[in-house]
Amino acid sequence: MKWSQYFIPTIKEVPAGTEAASHRLLLRAGLVHMLTSGVYSYLPLGLRVLGKISEIIRKEMNAAGAHELLMPALQPLDVWQKTGRDKTLAEVMIQFNTKRGTAMCLGPTHEEIITDLVKAFVHSYRQLPVTLYQIQTKFRDETRPRFGVVRACEFIMKDAYSFDTSMAGLQKNYDAMFQAYKNIFARCGLDPVIAEADSGAMGGRVSHEFLVPAPIGEDKVKAADGTEQQCIEVGHIFQLGTKYSEALGALYVDEQGKQHPLIMGCYGIGVSRLLATIIEVHHDEKGIVWPLAVAPFSVEILPLQTTDPQVMSLAQSYYDELTKSGIDVLMDDRDESAGFKFNDADLVGIPLRIVIGKRSLAQGAVEIRSRSCAASETVACENVLARIKSLMSQ
Ligand code: ATP
Ligand code: MG
Repeated sequence: MKWSQYFIPTIKEVPAGTEAASHRLLLRAGLVHMLTSGVYSYLPLGLRVLGKISEIIRKEMNAAGAHELLMPALQPLDVWQKTGRDKTLAEVMIQFNTKRGTAMCLGPTHEEIITDLVKAFVHSYRQLPVTLYQIQTKFRDETRPRFGVVRACEFIMKDAYSFDTSMAGLQKNYDAMFQAYKNIFARCGLDPVIAEADSGAMGGRVSHEFLVPAPIGEDKVKAADGTEQQCIEVGHIFQLGTKYSEALGALYVDEQGKQHPLIMGCYGIGVSRLLATIIEVHHDEKGIVWPLAVAPFSVEILPLQTTDPQVMSLAQSYYDELTKSGIDVLMDDRDESAGFKFNDADLVGIPLRIVIGKRSLAQGAVEIRSRSCAASETVACENVLARIKSLMSQ
């Protein structure tokens, strides 16, 4: 991608009313835009990161044997009335009537909807176990939307649901999800504390929260030394049991022909909250410092003199070769000063940077810089691609 033709509306000033570093950086680096309190657009750069996070999640979910589907956000309230959660979740649920007078809501979560769906297709122990997941938009009328996309009223969640015939089966699925969650967060550059939690409005017994230590965290966790740590909840998994299947009549027949309610688990990750949490953990005073796996681009090519044909032709040849190798490259081809472009590069936080300037080029060299460390190295022009590939595999 060429910066001059792309859409990265970076902002120099610190936006007013932003309490969290991640919120400031998401706005300043041109990743999100607020429509109204708690409601955000994801701009091209922000969407690229959401895409990277979602792909990591999909790989791990699929490897754990879960299958992706997509359920509606628009839901009839009568499904929720069967479990009584139209009342217990009334405070966060956005409810309304259609023109024809049907009571509807925008889904704050999907236990009822998935149970209703599975009930339509699964009737026998032979079809079980099954785990389904989606990456989808949720709506919650949060009392206090805060910290940008950390606590929003419209947000993206990955939610998975497992269906089993026995508690042992549920435990097996739960353990697989537990491990998948550890893998997902590690690949996103996060090291969450895992805490046994209260199942709250979900019902059920066993539940674990994945909590990332950060100053803006709204969850308090006791650390090993007894002190309290502020954490952001990025994931939550539950053993639900039969609460939803009983209420909605989602039954299967066993080998003896006897009917039982399905035994369920549910597993959530705040995908859009992860976007902010990763920045909360990975930034410095100049901007974002993306971990490679979730960075919107892996490499930024920064030619210093955009009117110099030699500089630009080398920049273009790196751009073409890296792109051909399947590496995501952003080239800052804007005719701006070096200082201006360096500031934007630090703000946007692409992990690796190739700086091409007339002076070092006269010596047959360019500069390679990693966003995560101050040092830069001078590399002979012909060794640049090999060096970038080796840095990317570290
Ligand atoms: P919280 O305690 O932060 O309000 P929750 O326990 O209500 O969250 P869950 O129902 O467990 O949330 O949802 C699964 C995941 O979705 C959470 O772990 C979190 O990462 C994310 N999430 C929940 N609410 C929001 C929100 N308002 N904005 C962004 N992400 C959210
Ligand atoms: Mg939770």
